[in-house]
Amino acid sequence: MITIKRQGQGTALLPKEDAMDESLHQKTAQWRHAAAQAGELASGALYLAGQTAAKAACLTRQSVQAAALRRSIDAALQDLGQLLYDTHTGHPRDSEVLLAKMEEIDGLKSRLRALERQRRPACPACGGPCAPEDRFCRHCGGKLS
Ligand SMILES: [Zn+2]
Repeated sequence: MITIKRQGQGTALLPKEDAMDESLHQKTAQWRHAAAQAGELASGALYLAGQTAAKAACLTRQSVQAAALRRSIDAALQDLGQLLYDTHTGHPRDSEVLLAKMEEIDGLKSRLRALERQRRPACPACGGPCAPEDRFCRHCGGKLS
């Protein structure tokens, strides 16, 4: 409205208003772009959170199994100790019984080792599961040490 009264400056002001519209338009576009990026980031974060949760669940299951195996090994070692002590106190045990107990412990220990080998390394950047031979993360492309 002011620009109409000031005829002389009108020509100078009008392009300025156009420029403002233009910059506003650019800003709106930037905001839209930023919002879209934020949306992408949020969905990415959700994806990562899901991945991390899945990995955590997997690791928890492995930890529970490993803990159960360690308890079994401890119990078998205790049995073996008792068998040996029985021998010492005049109740000799059949060497096959002792051998069977030791083989039971061997089996438990090898199962525990296999379980610990399965425990895969994770990407330090995104937490995604990686194969031990991977040099770069197959989820985010980050370098793995
Ligand atoms: Zn990664």
